Amino acid sequence: MSDKKIDWQDFALETQAIRAGIQRTPEDEHSIAMFLTSSYVFASAEEAALRFTGQKPGNVYSRFNNPTVRAFQERLALMEQGEACLAFASGMAAIMAVGMSLLKAGDHVVCSRGVFGNTVMLFQNYFAKFGVVTDFVDLVDINAWEQAIQPNTRLLFLETPSNPLTEIADIQALANLAHAHNSLLVVDNCFCTPILQKPLLLGADVVVHSATKYIDGQGRCVGGAVVASQELIDKSFYPYLRTGGATMSAFNAWVFLSGLETLSVRMRAHCENALALAQWLEQQPTVTKVYYPGLASHAQHALAQRQQAYFGGVLSFELTGGKEHAWKLIDATQMLSITANLGDVKTTITHPATTTHGRLTPEARAAAGISDGLLRISVGLEHIDDIKRDISRGL
Ligand SMILES: *Cc1c(COP(=O)(O)O)cnc(C)c1O
Repeated sequence: MSDKKIDWQDFALETQAIRAGIQRTPEDEHSIAMFLTSSYVFASAEEAALRFTGQKPGNVYSRFNNPTVRAFQERLALMEQGEACLAFASGMAAIMAVGMSLLKAGDHVVCSRGVFGNTVMLFQNYFAKFGVVTDFVDLVDINAWEQAIQPNTRLLFLETPSNPLTEIADIQALANLAHAHNSLLVVDNCFCTPILQKPLLLGADVVVHSATKYIDGQGRCVGGAVVASQELIDKSFYPYLRTGGATMSAFNAWVFLSGLETLSVRMRAHCENALALAQWLEQQPTVTKVYYPGLASHAQHALAQRQQAYFGGVLSFELTGGKEHAWKLIDATQMLSITANLGDVKTTITHPATTTHGRLTPEARAAAGISDGLLRISVGLEHIDDIKRDISRGL
């Protein structure tokens, strides 16, 4: 009962985000239907047997098939220009699925040191228990990646831009490196979304998402996704999802579908506000450094220009006066949300050294470039003048 027979591959990203994946029911609804059902009924015992064994297509059970979740998957796969997508309960559940589906005891992983904190924990504390060893390297040092690769390396894992220092990885170079060593490149595309960057087109094999951030965009639901070739989805990720069970709910998929509809206008507006804020911060006398890929002063500005459509909605900056000044600035704000979440229409402010990176030793924090005077802003969609005014109270 799909909406006419249209090949959405022929359409632009903005159109796919609004039109693709719709499964219209006989009720002719214009919005997308939300299928809140755990199971499905069969016309006969034989029909049940055929569907359970996969000999006949059709829904069986919402842990692994749900029409609303499928609509989200189809839409995100198209937008990333991947063959297929599978949704998960959270971004971390999607990253967990990558490891559980693709790795076995004795395998080795090379991971950027600048990935999401829980991703580091997952590789370092959990996959390690099952005999998968991970080495962490500097995101932008291609020689370090190459030197870390071993004969049993199966995955290279990165996030670009990194959080909170917005370093940019050369996805194409790292994809070539992975493939030369019989490995796969996995890119967490949460910060850019397919609006800014399509890692699969640059050679990456798997894209993971936390839909919780920009895809939702209004801080409501937790969810994640994996986008890859049809073969990887069918042979590796789908059997794991069916067994592992970290499923996205139909309700959350329905919210994320409407999030995708406005993603391109929101991302452009986030990027516009972030660039304006970064340029303004660079002129403030108590700000010693601004990290934003859209600034000419950024170390990988040219690479960001080549690899991304716009420069992203997250920036960070360093203040004179260390932790004391950073905390004072946070506490002087009236409008900004003091929270570690990002990708929301509301601007959020975080002190990485005492929150997201607080569990690291001072030495590890220094090695990661997280100083005590560093603040991270996820720039929202409030008026730029109000955002600047709120920050200037504590400058
Ligand atoms: C938030 C985040 C995750 C984890 O996603 P959840 O939906 O919170 O599980 C993974 N990667 C990045 C880059 C994130 O920002």
